[in-house]
This record gives sequence, structure tokens and C-alpha cells, in this order.
Amino acid sequence: MGCCDAPGLMPLEEAMENMLSRIKPIQTTLQLPLAEAIGYVLAEDILSPIFVPPFDNSAMDGYAIRIADLSNNATMPVAGKSFAGQPFEGEWPQGSCVRIMTGAKIPDGCDAVIMQENTVVSEDGVTFTQTEVKPQNNIRPTGDDIRKGDIVLPKGSRLTSRDIPMIATLGISHVTVVRKPRVAFFSTGDELKPLGQPLAEGQIYDSNRYGIKPLIENFGCEPIDLGIIPDCPETLKATFEQAQSLADVVVTSGGVSVGEADYTKDILEELGEIGFWKLAIKPGKPFAFGKLSTAWFCGLPGNPVSAVLTMYVLVQPMLAKLSGHTEWKAPESIPATTKTAFKKVPGRTDYQRGIYTIEDGKFVVETTGNQSSGAFRSMSLANCFVVLERERGRVEVGETVNIQLFNSTLY
Ligand code: AMP
Ligand code: MG
Repeated sequence: MGCCDAPGLMPLEEAMENMLSRIKPIQTTLQLPLAEAIGYVLAEDILSPIFVPPFDNSAMDGYAIRIADLSNNATMPVAGKSFAGQPFEGEWPQGSCVRIMTGAKIPDGCDAVIMQENTVVSEDGVTFTQTEVKPQNNIRPTGDDIRKGDIVLPKGSRLTSRDIPMIATLGISHVTVVRKPRVAFFSTGDELKPLGQPLAEGQIYDSNRYGIKPLIENFGCEPIDLGIIPDCPETLKATFEQAQSLADVVVTSGGVSVGEADYTKDILEELGEIGFWKLAIKPGKPFAFGKLSTAWFCGLPGNPVSAVLTMYVLVQPMLAKLSGHTEWKAPESIPATTKTAFKKVPGRTDYQRGIYTIEDGKFVVETTGNQSSGAFRSMSLANCFVVLERERGRVEVGETVNIQLFNSTLY
């Protein structure tokens, strides 16, 4: 091991560049009712057709006044009411005020609202206990939040549960979005058993599809689950053909290393143009990428942590590009101080599973324990990746490491 492990291994950045440079975004768009558009990528800028708020309105329940009238400190008669949706119409004489509610239109000539807590109401009218009132106090002016013509969300944004009500504020009922990428996925391996059935000798449960699917779905793509496929060349070939007829991307797990039952390589070389890479990351060394006749292909390693990790680190950026999600950003690295040691040998970028906490305002991180690529408990326990640089060796307590908090697809 040591640095001798590195020759022949492709750095992650190179693999990423190789993949991303080839992917062209999907051009098909659709018009969707706003409420159905969550998770889709915008195919055009959202420009505001109106000012928000559309009129000057009150930020408080209280009284609309003219500041000049306050100087004589008199009790003011109430000339009328302005309620939300029922504006005050007409004249209000000098020296009077208008009862006003939150969100109601500001009467013409009013230059401040005094909140009702700062008033004394009697039969004769209202006396104001607040003496210092500045112009525009408690008035939300027209366009304070958004100006007409503003780009509120750029093309290439993926619509979140925060964006949808933002667009609703503008009165826009339908949005133009990019069709979601369709991702067909299946697990390969004679040893794999579906859940709900007892295990025979030598079998394990297929967990990878349960790890891969949410990373597709929660990433705004459409998952197509093709199940478990045994290590049988004919069945595998037929499944690849079916998969590419259904999807933009075919994702498999298992069968991409160099074992005797790893048929994927031969079949793919027959069906398309596929590169098999040994990546300089840990876990997740064996990885395949390429093109079938009509779909992209990503072959993830079979070990469950490796499968999820490569899906997250390599396939998600590719899906972002495919879906036109130009506003997508990879998780940021945050420096953290180690509370435990991390075993590591130089040679590969290591994505160890960690648990971060914040102590005295600073990030600290500890290991989840067993870091085997087959030990999925480490993913379940973790709340971040501890990304250890390729040339780095063992990390001791008190060193600084980079952590990446999980994005929403791993939550
Ligand atoms: P492979 O890449 O096919 O050589 O598989 C590597 C390791 O991952 C083996 O221990 C497999 O049993 C395991 N494995 C492969 N596919 C899955 C899966 N879908 N779920 C859980 N473990 C798997
Ligand atoms: Mg296998």
C-alpha cells in the first residue's frame, strides 16, 4: 500500500471532468401548474410581472396618520377604516386618522402608521402615546420586496419548497421546466435476495437499490427500478437493452470489478462505448462510465457504501448537468477539528463517514467507527463525509480535516 497504490488510479476530478464534458442538458421542456413543479429545473428565468407588494400597505394594526398632525398632540377623530382587501376610499380631513389593519392599503397622504399598542382610544377619537414618529414608519412601500421585471429565479434553478410560494407571490400559475431525467437502475449479483424472503446459504439482501433510488428521486430525477438481475450474461444483456429504451441514464450496482462473475464489462463493450475506471477514491474504486446506444451508463461498485458514495459524488453532478440544473453546487468543504483519529494510507481520496457537532462555535468531527465499504452502518450513523486528501496518511486527534455536510438527498 502507500503511494504505490496510486499508479493507474484516476483522480476523481479527472473522472468528473471526463463525464461532465460529454453530457448535454436535456432540451425537452414542459409547462406545469406551479404546485406540481417542485423539484423540477426551470427552463426559463422567472421575471416578476408585478411589484411586490403591489401597493403601499401597513405593517401593523394601528392608525394611519399624517405626521404633521401629531405636533399639536390632540385627540384625533377616526375618519374611516382601511382593512386588508377593503381599502379606505375618499378624503380624510386634516387632523384626523384612519383605522388600519396589517396588509391594508395606505390611504393617500398618509406618511406613517402608529401601532395600536401606542394609542389610547376614547369616544372622541385616538390619542397617540408615541411621540417620535419617522416618515414611512410601519409602511411597507410598493415594490419593497420585488420590483416589476426583477429576475426572481434564474433559468437552471431547481424549484424548492421555498421557491414555489415565492413564484405564487407573483401570481404566476404555470412554469416552464425541463423534463426530469429518467434513471433506470438495477442491482446485479446471484447472491442478492429481495426483502421479505429468508436468506439461503451465501445470500444477502439487496440493499443498493434502496440506497440509489432516493439519490435519484430526491435529486429531481425519475427513478425506474428494474430489480435484481442475476450474474447471467443473457439476462444482463436483455436488461441493459430494456433499461436504455426506458431511460436517459442506466445505473447498475455490482459486477464492475474484476471477479469471474463480473460480466457487465463484456456486455457493455458489446452494447456501447464504456470506460472502466479505477478511481483514486475510497471507497468506490471500480466505476464504469460511458454510452450505450441511446442512454448514458454508470456502473457503481457493488459494496453498499461504495455504491451510494459514487452515486452521490459522481452520478449526481452528472444528473445535475443532464437536467440543466446549472445552479447546482457540490457540497462545500468545511474545516473541522478531529475528536478521534482516522485511519488512512496515502494513495486515494478517502470519503470517511463522520459525525460532526459544533463546540464553542467550531466544527468538530469524530469517526463512525468501522469504515469498511461493505459496512453500511457507517452511512446510517454519519451526518457528514470526512474528505481526506489523496496524499494524506493517518489523522490524529486535534488535526484539521475537511468535512462535507450531506446534501438533502442523504437526509
Ligand atoms: P461486486 O461489485 O459485484 O463484486 O460486489 C461487491 C460486494 O458488494 C460483494 O460483497 C457483493 O455481495 C456486494 N453487493 C453487490 N451488490 C449488492 C447489493 N445490491 N446490495 C448489497 N450488497 C451488494
Ligand atoms: Mg457481483
